[in-house]
Amino acid sequence: PADAPQLVTHNLTRKFDGLTAVDNVSLTVLPGRITGLIGPNGAGKSTLVNLLSGHISPTSGDIQFGDVALAGRSAEAIARAGLARTFQNNRLFDQLTLRENIAVAAIGMGLTRREAAARAEREILAMNLTADAERLAGTLPYGARKRLDIARCLAGEPKLLLLDEPAAGMNPDETADLGDRIAAIAAARGIAVVLIDHDLEFVNRLSSEIVVMNRGAILARGTPAEIRKNPDVIEAYIGTGETDVPSLPTIGVSA
Ligand code: ADP
Ligand code: MG
Repeated sequence: PADAPQLVTHNLTRKFDGLTAVDNVSLTVLPGRITGLIGPNGAGKSTLVNLLSGHISPTSGDIQFGDVALAGRSAEAIARAGLARTFQNNRLFDQLTLRENIAVAAIGMGLTRREAAARAEREILAMNLTADAERLAGTLPYGARKRLDIARCLAGEPKLLLLDEPAAGMNPDETADLGDRIAAIAAARGIAVVLIDHDLEFVNRLSSEIVVMNRGAILARGTPAEIRKNPDVIEAYIGTGETDVPSLPTIGVSA
């Protein structure tokens, strides 16, 4: 069914020695929707993404991806099942052109060269990369590198896209444009998106649901409007003394 969850985790937990980085996280992500994942530095967001993508394995808990149980599978198998992710520090082939970087990703997902070329063209348009398509990735401006990383993910036609801080380092215009593109692609292609970003205004604008993590656990979940006025959420950010949250007022601190 169209509204069946794309991803369900059940009591997902990851421990590092004495630290529980992800603590009993039960999460549901719907196709065609953007789920925001926020929380102070060290909350466990990137570790959760690493668990979902198979880059680290859970200590306990289950991950159901459509009909497929993911826990314990390799990152390659999970990518082939349709789960794509970006990294906080993107991993591109600096000696290849932007276009080649996308085509290589598509070939890696099993497309022929001809199919990959067509796919690369589609994603260049989708992510507004036409002007830089023939440049070597190593020479690209920062914002284009971030968009290229997403274009590479899209080239594999993922069912779920995990975006870890895609707007980090972007200026406000770039961030706004990126948000519009992510929203349009998620809706048009029915892709489930999990969006992590420090820019809470950006996350609020795009997400139909927001999940807040703190110290590894889910602290709150709800619509952006609900999260904005949740005192536990505000307290979690203030409690860390984190000063690099540019949009704290949007979750109600100024009220
Ligand atoms: P976030 O992305 O929300 O900032 P992380 O998931 O990166 O948080 O980190 C959550 C916690 O897990 C932090 O305390 C971090 O230091 C710890 N952590 C993350 N990865 C490892 C690792 N490979 N080994 C040990 N501790 C880790
Ligand atoms: Mg992180």
